[in-house]
Order: sequence, then structure tokens, then C-alpha cells
Amino acid sequence: MGKSIVVTSGKGGVGKTTAVANIGTGLAMRGLKVALVDTDIGLRNLDLLLGLENRIVYNIVDVVEGKCSLKQALVKDKRLNNLYLLPAAQTKEKEAVSVEQMKGVINDLKIEFDYVLIDSPAGIEHGFKSAISGADEAIVITTPEVSAVRDADRVIGLLEAYGHRDPRLIVNRVRFDMVKNGEMLGVDDLLDILSIELLGIIPEDENLIISINKGEPIIYSGNKYKSALAFNLIVKRLLGEDVSWDELEKSESFLEKIFKIFKG
Ligand code: ADP
Ligand code: MG
Repeated sequence: MGKSIVVTSGKGGVGKTTAVANIGTGLAMRGLKVALVDTDIGLRNLDLLLGLENRIVYNIVDVVEGKCSLKQALVKDKRLNNLYLLPAAQTKEKEAVSVEQMKGVINDLKIEFDYVLIDSPAGIEHGFKSAISGADEAIVITTPEVSAVRDADRVIGLLEAYGHRDPRLIVNRVRFDMVKNGEMLGVDDLLDILSIELLGIIPEDENLIISINKGEPIIYSGNKYKSALAFNLIVKRLLGEDVSWDELEKSESFLEKIFKIFKG
């Protein structure tokens, strides 16, 4: 039986879909069988990040409405044959999949897959409750902005109310230079406010935007880019390996030095 993990947030646009695409790909690159479930109905875009948008025939709503089997709706990744996507519907109502139906789909996937990663809508939106209902574990993502952190705090409360006692935190779009200058909340500040366990830190990285536009998760580049390294550290941590966060900051300054040398 596999494990299901929901990736969620308080505020929208903080990096949930990016994280699901990269962490899922990273787990699959290590040979694990992974299903990615897009539950952001009406706003689907996990397929775009994976470059699979043209391969979708059925979606999760078709599955729960009995129009196709779960197997028929799963889209195999182009690069990794142990990575699959269950797409969201583009046009349906956000409440098209009930809590019970979602639990059923996720449980069926857990029989076949080692990891089921669920990309959810933000906590304030409809569909959040069904998205989190089938998950064994929850990951909350926030950026270091005050408004996002406040919403993350709220969503942690909501998760707890629905039985997710120990969600873990990913802080995305961190700029170490700004943190150093006191212009951005540091990860320590966030952990003080939110008091949950840290799973990972992802730096702001323009290369990530390029990879999103190409439909190829940045984690494919190994550790070439700082965000790719960050996602690899998160994957290691999920798999229970010991990871030091200093590794990321050190390598960021290391990569920057190298970059400056090449730039002249
Ligand atoms: P969500 O799924 O939470 O709505 P997305 O994963 O779609 O958020 O990310 C929203 C946008 O933020 C992406 O299109 C990307 O341009 C940008 N983004 C996310 N993470 C980073 C990052 N670490 N560095 C730079 N841009 C990022
Ligand atoms: Mg999203």
C-alpha cells in the first residue's frame, strides 16, 4: 500500500503545482511508482508543467462519474514510465468530486502506486476539503510574505480540524540575500510563527519559470540549478534521509560564485 501526500497552501499561487511536479518527478527518478493527482478542478495546470496537456483524454471527474476507468484516465509521463498523472477537469464545478469519491480514488491509487501526490486548491477554495480527505500526510507551502504566512497559519488550523495533525512546511521563493539584509522573513521566523516541522526551502529561481514554460520539471537538471537542488533535498527528506539545510545556502553561494566567474 502506498502513501498519499497532499500539497496545499493558504494563499494561491505560492508554488503547490510546481512542488508536486518536481517532487513527484524526483521520487519517480529514484524508481518509485508515482501518481500525481490534480484536484484543482477548473484551474488545472499540473499537466502543463509536465508537458502532458495534449495527452489527456479523461479526467478525475470522468472517473467518479463512471465514464471511464481509473486506469483509462491516468496519463503516463513522456520521460518516466513509472510516473502518471490523473488530470483535473477543466470545465466542471469545483465541487464535482465529493469527499467520499476522492477518498475512493486515492485509495485505489495507493494499491498500485508507492506515492500518490495530491495537488490541491488553496485552503480558502472549494475543493480543498475533498483534496485533503484522501491524504495520509499533508505538506503546507508558503512564501515568506506576511500575507501568505498568515494564510498558511489558517490552513494549518483547518488541516488540524480535519485530522491532519502534523503537516510539514515548505518555504518557497526564499531570497537568502534579502533575508540576510533583514528585508525578508527568514525560515526561522516562519517556523516560530507556524510551529510545524520544516520539510524544505526552495529559493527564488528564474530558471524554474523557464522550466515551467518548457513543460519539463527542473529536477531533471540534477543539481545544476538551486531550485533543482532544493527539490532533491526535499525528496531525500521525504524518503527519510538526513538533510542539512546549510547544504542549500552553501551551494547557493557556491553556484553564484561559479556563475560570476563564468560571467567574467
Ligand atoms: P500554485 O499551484 O500554488 O498556484 P504554482 O506552482 O502554479 O502555484 O506557482 C505559481 C507561479 O509562481 C509559477 O508559475 C512560477 O512562475 C512561480 N514560482 C513558483 N515557485 C517559484 C520559485 N521558487 N522561483 C521563481 N518563481 C516561482
Ligand atoms: Mg496550482
